[in-house]
Amino acid sequence: MDSGAPILGARKLKVSKLLAVKAVPRFYRVDDPHVHLNNFKETTGNAVGIYVHIPFCRSLCVFCPYFKDVLRDYRELEAYFKALLKEVEVYGKLLEEKNPSIVEIHVGGGTPSLVPPRLYRELADSLSQFFNVKCGISIEANPEDLRSYRAVEELYSAGIDEVSIGVQSFDERVLRSLGRKHSTEDSAKAVENSIKAGYKWVNVDLMFLAPNIRGYAELTLEEKLEAFRKDLEKGHELGAHQITFYPTIIPSSSPGYRLVELGKVSQELDYVDAFIDMALDFVKDKNLYLVRVYSASRKRYEYATVNLEMVGPLIGLGAGAWGNTGLYQYVNIHDVVTYISTTEKGLPPAAYSRNLSLASRTWRLFFDQLSTAEVREDLFKFTGFKNMPLKVRFLLKAMELNGTVERVGGIYRLTRRGIKEVYKSVINYVIDVPVKATEMFTRISRSGKYPEVVEIK
Ligand code: SF4
Repeated sequence: MDSGAPILGARKLKVSKLLAVKAVPRFYRVDDPHVHLNNFKETTGNAVGIYVHIPFCRSLCVFCPYFKDVLRDYRELEAYFKALLKEVEVYGKLLEEKNPSIVEIHVGGGTPSLVPPRLYRELADSLSQFFNVKCGISIEANPEDLRSYRAVEELYSAGIDEVSIGVQSFDERVLRSLGRKHSTEDSAKAVENSIKAGYKWVNVDLMFLAPNIRGYAELTLEEKLEAFRKDLEKGHELGAHQITFYPTIIPSSSPGYRLVELGKVSQELDYVDAFIDMALDFVKDKNLYLVRVYSASRKRYEYATVNLEMVGPLIGLGAGAWGNTGLYQYVNIHDVVTYISTTEKGLPPAAYSRNLSLASRTWRLFFDQLSTAEVREDLFKFTGFKNMPLKVRFLLKAMELNGTVERVGGIYRLTRRGIKEVYKSVINYVIDVPVKATEMFTRISRSGKYPEVVEIK
């Protein structure tokens, strides 16, 4: 994988051997929906997260790694939400006796802000009918959809109280290089409107390592770093509660990959540390909390994301969604038409699943904690271990010796070097598993030929 075009996706980031862990998950076709439901029920907990996938966008961005399609007609959304409510019912009835609390509801995509607020109200009502809901809804939003204050208020009144805005950059040159349709004015307005409307939490997503095309290619490295610094400053000035920063990944399935094949796109992969350093300096200057190695927050609180996808328990709803109880993981059909026809029959639309061993759960929990920049000794009690497992202790010791971790009492804290190493290994994991899995499951679902076993490698 570490060869090919100088872009992130065809290549991975260089990390120390200690953190160069390669996951090759193997999934098995769900042949009997009842076995799937039973596995889910047996292993899920009493406090559960919900992830809803909205696989529609107004148009397709050239370097997008997510599962999505163009929304041709709003009636598609109506039909899709009808199917979502059916899926809520399937899991609601399944877990009726357990009566789990819903502790976070995150809607990702695609473009969730395309959805009329009325449909979110219906979703919220349906979830409350079957579960003990203890939270509002958080959605990912395109700046274009939040430039009108009225639209922002309507979403808020529909029960949405956290928003993550896909700003990517406040610099037109970066936006053009990414092929984004929104303007920098849209982004500023979207953040201002969301703060003014009273959203509990507003996250801004920013991108660095944009592809070297169009006006962006002409900038020097210093100018690119300066543009990124200004982006961080601008997000903060506008009042965002949290800023998440990540590099552009260019998957081979994206329309823009053709430009890569023609040798017209490159990225400054060797300078990734300089961009991360820039973000870490910003966190320090502004006295922010590094809630994840890739995210800075004004409080020790973070926007509800798909983090429960790693550790569970999470019910994944919608075409292309992933669910995970901590010991059992499933992937829904990656095709909207088949997703709808399956839920219409009252069946769960899970296409593939796998059991997660206690060891695998432990590593997932460990890496999830590591991405918060610190690991607590007592963390592993939740997985059934009395103490930190020996393998984890050895790895942390080795990290301590190579200067990526410092031990303070019962807490292992990442050093600045450690933060950068973990950051890069998180990005490598995203390339290795979610991005590749999305490509593979989409191809399989669209072909209609589902092999018995799928290995993500
Ligand atoms: S990057 Fe976001 S808005 Fe663009 S096509 Fe992908 S999911 Fe849609």
